[in-house]
Amino acid sequence: MTVRRPLIAGNWKMHNTLADARQLVSALLEGIDRVKGVDVLICPSFTNLFPMAKSIAGTRIMMGAQNVHEAEKGAFTGEISAAMIKDTGCTHVIVGHSERRHVFGETSDRLGKKVRAVVDAGLIAIYCVGETLDDRDSGRTYDIVDRQLGDVLGEGVDPERVVVAYEPVWAIGTGVNATPEQAQEVHEFIRGRLGDIYDPKTASATRILYGGSVKPANAAGLLSEADIDGALVGGACLVAEDFLAIISAAAARVVA
Ligand code: PEP
Repeated sequence: MTVRRPLIAGNWKMHNTLADARQLVSALLEGIDRVKGVDVLICPSFTNLFPMAKSIAGTRIMMGAQNVHEAEKGAFTGEISAAMIKDTGCTHVIVGHSERRHVFGETSDRLGKKVRAVVDAGLIAIYCVGETLDDRDSGRTYDIVDRQLGDVLGEGVDPERVVVAYEPVWAIGTGVNATPEQAQEVHEFIRGRLGDIYDPKTASATRILYGGSVKPANAAGLLSEADIDGALVGGACLVAEDFLAIISAAAARVVA
């Protein structure tokens, strides 16, 4: 059986000025060494990447960006390339977050290019998939997730550089999380699809995170499911105590 080390990633979104960011990271660093066996990632806004790289230097906290442009370089005012992100010290980039899909209209075609740009730059893509409430209510959860995976992953995308995040859109920022059973069902499906797209050994080594209203109160339940290998956390990652509690829940993860 493959043992997948848990990964807890915090998506700061458009929160935290530099002063807030410094305070949050210093509170995280005070508590982080009490928890072993979990990979921890923060994803600050672009402007905070360089200063946060300094704040976390020499610690076990890793850093990711929240978005990337797919082109290597060029006339794309306001955009940031994968190489620029790598320069800051990031190891990961979130791609396909539901806010990028639904608020900024990013299509599968574009997300495929972004994942390739991230992987080609030697970074790890945290590729987000997930259905809307309408999709779920009309029984299309698996079709949607299947398409989101198949459209983007596969040939030309090194699976060792991919983490998948299942983030049901109806659970993001709503306070309503998928139940551990609901999340596990979709994670198991995703792992099966990764097996078809790549191969079963790769699928069993790939980390699949759950995201959507993860909090200290529900983290242990979600993280005890066999195919839930960590969490992508939004709101709760902005409070050091809560983020640390979720990291501790991952450390205590016992999968039957
Ligand atoms: C997210 O933004 O990826 C997310 C899961 O947010 P929240 O935890 O606030 O639902």
